[in-house]
Amino acid sequence: MDQDIRVLLVDDHELNASIIGDYLNIAGLDVSICHSGNECLLHLEEGNLPDILLLDIQMPGMDGIEVMRIIRSHEQKDIRDLLVVALTALAMDGDAKRCLEAGANFYLSKPIKLQELLGFIISKVKELPV
Ligand SMILES: [Mg+2]
Repeated sequence: MDQDIRVLLVDDHELNASIIGDYLNIAGLDVSICHSGNECLLHLEEGNLPDILLLDIQMPGMDGIEVMRIIRSHEQKDIRDLLVVALTALAMDGDAKRCLEAGANFYLSKPIKLQELLGFIISKVKELPV
């Protein structure tokens, strides 16, 4: 029913990514997965723009905060304006603030209940202006 919702999931943890990806796929969303910040940026610059980007914060190399900063200052407006949800495993004070300051529209703490994630994605994408 929601095949028209394109999701890009970026998570260095392959099992996490495939569990979340499979769930969203089965629910009918169009899911792409990247395992690093570099791969994510390349994917976007190749013109694969999702309706919503789920971005893990803790990744080796380029972390999610850095990816977000690059996205928000990107020369391409459609990349700059992406709807970005930060996924963070840290329950540290100030972590949410750090994500939002770097430009995330929202953040979710892991572990995430898959059903709640699906509901969240659908509600946020449906709020977007057409
Ligand atoms: Mg990670």
